[in-house]
Parts: sequence; C-alpha cells; structure tokens
Amino acid sequence: MRQTQMEAIRKQLLQDRESLLMEIRQKKAEAAALVDSGVPDPGDMSMNISLTDFLHLLSDNHRERIMLIDEALRRLDEGSYGTCERCGEPIPMKRLEVQPFTPFCVECKEDAEREEIQRAGRPEQGKL
Ligand SMILES: [Zn+2]
Repeated sequence: MRQTQMEAIRKQLLQDRESLLMEIRQKKAEAAALVDSGVPDPGDMSMNISLTDFLHLLSDNHRERIMLIDEALRRLDEGSYGTCERCGEPIPMKRLEVQPFTPFCVECKEDAEREEIQRAGRPEQGKL
C-alpha cells in the first residue's frame, strides 16, 4: 500500500473516531436533559431505566466501533494494515475504502459472521 493511501486512511479513521465520540457526548447530553426536564411520576423509575438502557446500547455500539478503529490505527502503525487478520491475505483496497476499520477480508468476515450467528443463535450483520 502506498504511503499516501495509508495517510488518507489514517485521516478518515481519526475523523470517524472523533464523530463517534461526539455522537456519544451529544446523546448523553440529550438524555441528561430529558431526565432533568422531569419524569412524569418521580416514583416511576421505568423512564429513567429505559433511558439508561438506551444509552448503554448506544455507547456499546459506538465503543465497539471505536475499538475497531483503534485496532486499525495500531495496524497502520505496525505496518500490518490491509492484511486480513484471519487468513493473512491482502484485503482489497476497494473494501478498505468502504470500511477502513475492518480487520478481515470479505470471505473471513462472512465466516466470522456465520460463527457469530451460531454462537449467539441470532443473526447479526454489518458490524465489520
Ligand atoms: Zn481473510
């Protein structure tokens, strides 16, 4: 991979990371404002609980994505970026342009998803 390509990818990864962090901060502020503006019945905690759950779900999703981005940045530094973590084959540039944080080639991603489905017993798509 050329140096200019790697720099472009690093820039995009850092931008994605920043916008994910901003989204988390924004959602947290929104949720805090909702809680502050008053729950209809102070004795009824269900509103608070569902907001907390929602925040957890959102943050988990974003955090997972940020972890993938951090991993990709580490691989860029180490020089192993662009190589599939599973089979060791180069990941096509076209795929990296669409999903620069992916550690797997298409075949291995599909394998990993199949295993995930078998483990979890439910379909889960589009993470990597
Ligand atoms: Zn692979």
